[in-house]
Amino acid sequence: MTISALTTIGFDADDTLWQNEQFFRMTEKRFAAMLAEHGDHDQIAARLLEAERRNLALYGFGIKGFTLSMIETAVEVTGGEVPGSIIGEILAAGREMLSHPIEPLPHARETIEKLAGSYHLVLITKGDLFDQERKLAQSGMGDLFDAVEIVSDKSTATYARIFSRYGRGPQNSMMVGNSLKSDVIPAIEAGSWGIHVPHELTWAIEQAEAPVAAPRFRQIADLGELPSLVEAIAKAE
Ligand SMILES: [Mg+2]
Repeated sequence: MTISALTTIGFDADDTLWQNEQFFRMTEKRFAAMLAEHGDHDQIAARLLEAERRNLALYGFGIKGFTLSMIETAVEVTGGEVPGSIIGEILAAGREMLSHPIEPLPHARETIEKLAGSYHLVLITKGDLFDQERKLAQSGMGDLFDAVEIVSDKSTATYARIFSRYGRGPQNSMMVGNSLKSDVIPAIEAGSWGIHVPHELTWAIEQAEAPVAAPRFRQIADLGELPSLVEAIAKAE
């Protein structure tokens, strides 16, 4: 058996290791209910998504930017008449999201524990710095990672840079995550393996076509399938 060329495994955090999008959807429902006089759920949600898209380049990913976009949407749909009490409720909803206990996804911890001794593990996540650090600390998985990279965006250059720092470079690395657009496609473009672990809830902005023709693309049903996939890839190399 040859020594594995695979040295490094990157993991996305939100909706890969623990639930995330469900809290955004719950808050969106609450938000639509606060503004029910001004439109139904789908109308309010569509306006909110427009605001989020507009603001992404300014606020980045995360709950604080989401909260500001909710306030902006409330101002818009009420023609500038939104009461201070509603602004207060929006801010409270954002704070609740920032203090919600994490819910790990199936097989996350056991899989990270299994792989930790044999590979460099790097957590690569977008979002608010404080919030991601809080969730990682709460998960109890922080010590199993060799490094944590909280980035403003996940591009091909991001993966090339991070995977060059840990292990033997992008060619010898793998990225695992629920977003085809942010986790899988740019990692494959950087020369790495891209492993898709679909989550039933994926934000509209994170959706993309699966790169089915790419030789380094794989999809697994949950993280429980990852150790045997890693072993098969490492053996074949
Ligand atoms: Mg994710």
